[in-house]
Amino acid sequence: MTTVISREWEHVVVTGGAGFVGSHLCTALLDAGAAVTCVDDFCTGRPENIAPLLDRPGFTLVQADVAEELPVRRSPDLVLHFASPASPADYLRLPLHTLATGSDGTRHALELARSAGARFVLASTSEVYGDPRQNPQDERYWGNVNPVGPRSVYDEAKRFGEALTTAYADAHGVDTCIVRLFNTYGPRMRGHDGRAVPTFVRQALDGEPLTVTGDGGQTRSLSYVDDTVAGILAAAAHGMRGPVNIGNPGEITMLELAELVIELAGSDSEIRFIERPVDDPAVRCPDITLAKDKLGWQPRVAAEDGLRRTIDWFRAEAAV
Ligand code: NAD
Repeated sequence: MTTVISREWEHVVVTGGAGFVGSHLCTALLDAGAAVTCVDDFCTGRPENIAPLLDRPGFTLVQADVAEELPVRRSPDLVLHFASPASPADYLRLPLHTLATGSDGTRHALELARSAGARFVLASTSEVYGDPRQNPQDERYWGNVNPVGPRSVYDEAKRFGEALTTAYADAHGVDTCIVRLFNTYGPRMRGHDGRAVPTFVRQALDGEPLTVTGDGGQTRSLSYVDDTVAGILAAAAHGMRGPVNIGNPGEITMLELAELVIELAGSDSEIRFIERPVDDPAVRCPDITLAKDKLGWQPRVAAEDGLRRTIDWFRAEAAV
């Protein structure tokens, strides 16, 4: 674990805490001595992700839809707002829920922070840059998003969440921070969530063809979850307002990724090219100068290493 937490929190509310990134955040915060309340409606999260935490002192699970309510009894000093369907397969299946979570859910999380006088961190995304005309993307880039395309339910929900967060800081003086996460991968992803890494790993381990969309020339920049968690907690501790990019600038094409997964998994799967989704970004790479300069943070886990750990986890899960 590479997590470095440079500020002590007493009680942290993590919305979406039963999800992939959220459950790693809950674990890191408990390990650092904080009490953690995880609020989740399990629309895309898994009970297994937080099962090992249920008996740990200081951990509380609240099952609720944050778009409806955020029923937390104890006042937090930090709110990490991570609830949202995040994979294209999930948000295309849950379009209205995704918009409600990004709007009403974000407002409820901001209200909780406001009433408690807590710091607030919004999990935003590189998807606010859309199909970017600038590569790499720095935080000053405004993005290229189709507001009526199929991905807009997610992209625009996050853009609205950023605007709402900014308004709460300006109008109500809430201590806010926006982190823009780039593609993150690692243990606890769901093999059928449609994102490239879990899809390729599952297919490679099952001996199925790896389904690469388009000609596979589109790029992504993949951050191992421990690095992403360390970056989020560094931004929370710093006190910066952001937005700040948290991601790994190591850019890789989807074809290269598929070939690497096949090699690391020792698989004899083939590669099959399938249709590319509408508005799929051609490139995606973070400029992390701001995070490096202000937070002293940068990713440490190399792709081969992170992918090996992820493959090992998927293999172990399949054996259970
Ligand atoms: P995930 O789907 O694994 O986790 C999201 C969690 O939020 C799930 O547990 C889900 O049940 C919960 N949730 C969704 N809507 C809810 C609601 N209305 N009320 C309560 N709980 C709700 O996804 P993830 O990859 O862990 O992403 C977590 C956050 O980080 C999301 O906000 C996502 O937009 C952001 N993010 C993730 C990535 C990435 O690569 N993983 C990249 C950019 C941004």
